[in-house]
Amino acid sequence: MLGYNPKRKALVERAMKPVEKMLREMYDEGKDLTKIKLRKYQKTHFSSCTCGQCTRAKMKKDPHLRGILEDGFKVYMGEGASDD
Ligand SMILES: [Zn+2]
Repeated sequence: MLGYNPKRKALVERAMKPVEKMLREMYDEGKDLTKIKLRKYQKTHFSSCTCGQCTRAKMKKDPHLRGILEDGFKVYMGEGASDD
């Protein structure tokens, strides 16, 4: 557990703003918000990438160490998604 850090807190709050807005828009569109699910996702560099991070990931055989292109999360409606 990290100690209280106002900078981190502000960062989290700023990150939550667009999510809040999006959820409100979905609500206004009549979407069933009880079905909403969030999933974290990360897009890593291509397997052919030779940057420092990817090279280290290859050496350690740990794909999680690869360079990150995109880091975020996806919002989707839970209906139909069976991989809970
Ligand atoms: Zn890379």
